[in-house]
Amino acid sequence: MLYLVEHFYSIQGEGRYTGAPSLFFRFGGCNMKCEGFACVEKAADGTEVLGCDTVYAVNKEHFSHNWIPIKSAKELLSILDLYELPRHVDIVLTGGEPLIYANDEVFIEFLSALHQHGHKITFETNGSLAVDFEKYPIYQECIFALSVKLSNSNEPLHKRVRGEIIYSIASKAKEAFFKFSIDADSIDLGLEDEIESILLHSPRTKVYCMPLGGSKAEVEANTEPLIEFCKSKGYNFSDRLHIRIWDQNKGV
Ligand code: SF4
Repeated sequence: MLYLVEHFYSIQGEGRYTGAPSLFFRFGGCNMKCEGFACVEKAADGTEVLGCDTVYAVNKEHFSHNWIPIKSAKELLSILDLYELPRHVDIVLTGGEPLIYANDEVFIEFLSALHQHGHKITFETNGSLAVDFEKYPIYQECIFALSVKLSNSNEPLHKRVRGEIIYSIASKAKEAFFKFSIDADSIDLGLEDEIESILLHSPRTKVYCMPLGGSKAEVEANTEPLIEFCKSKGYNFSDRLHIRIWDQNKGV
C-alpha cells in the first residue's frame, strides 16, 4: 500500500531547481531514521519522536494515522485538479523516502501519467534504494536529487552509502545531482573526506550543500560556515528557502 502524507504547491526550496514552482507529493515511510539530525516532533499520544525534519513522514508507528492510503494512480492524479497550476508544472516526489515505492504498480502508473502530461519529475531520495531502470523505463525520464546521508545522520555506513546504487541512478537517470545537509560542527570533524568518498561513485555529478536544520534559526547558524566550506571545495551552496521563509511550518 502506498501512503501519501501531504501535497502542496510551492516553490522548490533547495538544490538545483531552487525557486521553481513545484507541486510536492510527500510519501510516507523511509528505510532510515536519521536520529542524528535531532529534530523532535510530538506525536498525538505526547511521545517526543526523534528524527529528521520530516520525522512525521518517516515514523509509521507514531504518525501513520495521519497518512492517506492510496489505492490507485487516479487518486494521486486527481490532486493536480485541486490546484490552479501552470501547464507542465514541476512535480517533486519526496518523503520520507519515495523510492520505498519504486516497484509499486500504482506508483509506476502515476509516474507514467505525469510524464505523458509533460511534467518534469524530480525525486528527492537518500539514494540507497535500487531503481530498476530496465523494467521501469519511466525512471530514465526522471531527475534524482541524491541526498546521500552522511555520518551526522547516525545511520550506519553500509546502509546510507550504496555505491552501486548511486552509480546506477547517476548514470541511467535523465539527470542527477548530489545534495548534502551539513552543519557547522560536522565541517570541523573532517566531513569533506566523507563527501569525497561518496563522490567517487559518480565523480561528474554536481554537488549541492545545504545548511542542516529543521528551523530557521538552525539553518541560519549553519549557513556561513557552510558557504566557506563550499568556497574551499568548489561545491555549490544551496539554501533551504522553504525553512528560511516559512520556518517550521509544514505544507509550504
Ligand atoms: S533518509 Fe531522509 S526522510 Fe529518511 S529519515 Fe533520513 S533524512 Fe529523513
